[in-house]
Amino acid sequence: MKKQMDVIVALCRRRGFLFQSSEIYGGLNGFWDYGPLGVELKRNVREAWWRDMVTSHNELVTPSGAPRPYAMVGLETSIIMHPQVWKCSGHYDMFHDMMVDCKECKARFRADQIQDSQCPLKPSKHPGEYEKCQLTEPREFNLMFKTYVGALSGEEGAAFLRPETAQGIFVNFKNVLDSTRVKIPFGVAQIGKSFRNEITPRNFTFRSREFEQMEIEFFCHPSESRQWYQYWRDRRFQWYINLGITSENLRLRDHEPEELSHYSVGTADVEYAFPFLPEGSYGELEGIAHRGDFDLRSHMEGKLIRQGDGFVVETDENGQPKYRGSGKDLTYFDDQTRERYVPHVIEPSAGADRATLAFLCEAYCEDEQPDEKGRPQKRVFLRFHPRIAPIKAAVFPLIKKDGMPEKATAIYSELKEAGIVCAYDQQGAIGRRYRRQDEIGTPYCITVDGQTLEDDTVTIRDRDSLEQIRIPSREVVEEIQRRLRTT
Ligand code: ATP
Repeated sequence: MKKQMDVIVALCRRRGFLFQSSEIYGGLNGFWDYGPLGVELKRNVREAWWRDMVTSHNELVTPSGAPRPYAMVGLETSIIMHPQVWKCSGHYDMFHDMMVDCKECKARFRADQIQDSQCPLKPSKHPGEYEKCQLTEPREFNLMFKTYVGALSGEEGAAFLRPETAQGIFVNFKNVLDSTRVKIPFGVAQIGKSFRNEITPRNFTFRSREFEQMEIEFFCHPSESRQWYQYWRDRRFQWYINLGITSENLRLRDHEPEELSHYSVGTADVEYAFPFLPEGSYGELEGIAHRGDFDLRSHMEGKLIRQGDGFVVETDENGQPKYRGSGKDLTYFDDQTRERYVPHVIEPSAGADRATLAFLCEAYCEDEQPDEKGRPQKRVFLRFHPRIAPIKAAVFPLIKKDGMPEKATAIYSELKEAGIVCAYDQQGAIGRRYRRQDEIGTPYCITVDGQTLEDDTVTIRDRDSLEQIRIPSREVVEEIQRRLRTT
């Protein structure tokens, strides 16, 4: 089934997953709000990432020698940082896209997304064709949002909203080392908002101006960095598969040498076949980059530029560093080998909104099921992995009398007390209530019916197989917990 993006977008709006930001004022392009179900879904994506990568991570790895554990710790750093951070990281000079304007209609485009000299906003008299207009020469457009800190309104107070969370981790490298007992190799993880003034935000939340990243900076010995790069590349790909993305829609693509960022020794992208892309095309969910020692060295020495096979500090016309680093010692001392070195960094950098969108698109399914009278009816359901489904279980009384609502609300309360996100619904025919839950991806529905009043059993219905089993009502919480644990 070819999934239709407009159908998925409409469902997201109708059922409260996603709304356009400031919708009542006509919206603001590139900004999105998560509704009551969307916020649960995205929270589950973030929590799955944090648990699997940080708190529950318990992997033994053998890049060389015997299998050994490695530490993962978290950080939450500020969105606005010292402006020098972005000068040394290279973002101030180099974080730009090439932009062109249409001289006629004044619309603005990313140069790499526009073909020939066609302006896609000026359709010609012939359907499907566009007027040839004059486009300006491509010019640089820095993607960082500028703001002013404090009462200083001039350039003295100028600062930027971070375009990535990574730099907050690099500048805290020493703080983490000095305040914890972590030893290399170890990783630092951060989830947080990033901002990029994208020229043409589009494809729903895929390219937004405000978005959330889930990033890891993994610090290791230079001699082991290639193995660690391979490890993270494979591990991060598998994470999406484990959470229900089928391998046909997901791929791991190594960058061509000419695609690599200025700092990168090697990069691979995890990509998903989003329905808004042409058949056979993929969009980036996450980049896993081998960044060498570029970032820590930049924050020690100053902005680096490539020279031959390595990097040197960029200098101005007087031979002075163009942007000075912090001058702080960001090396690592291994007290067993007595070696001092600048660690290498592997960076798996994922977008929380893009992952959420991919899980939504992947989950969207349609099938045909008989209604109450046995007539075939189209059924829409979101086949979320139970770990990320916004609501885990819904409880229904079959009818609104004979003590069924009381029994159903008691089960609902028990589920809530056990920390299971659940819903209660007693409105309308039971078939419609099932369909309402299917449409938002609730994996399990529990129904209290006539038989419950006789033998205290209830049915549990599975969203995907539609199988119903009957269990004693006192076992409901345990059964749902067991299913959530084992899927
Ligand atoms: P793209 O090439 O699509 O612009 P990028 O290579 O610039 O992405 P990175 O700088 O590697 O992206 O950022 C890491 C992750 O952050 C991306 O894989 C993506 O999931 C997310 N991300 C980046 N830009 C955006 C955006 N404008 N909107 C939503 N998510 C984004």
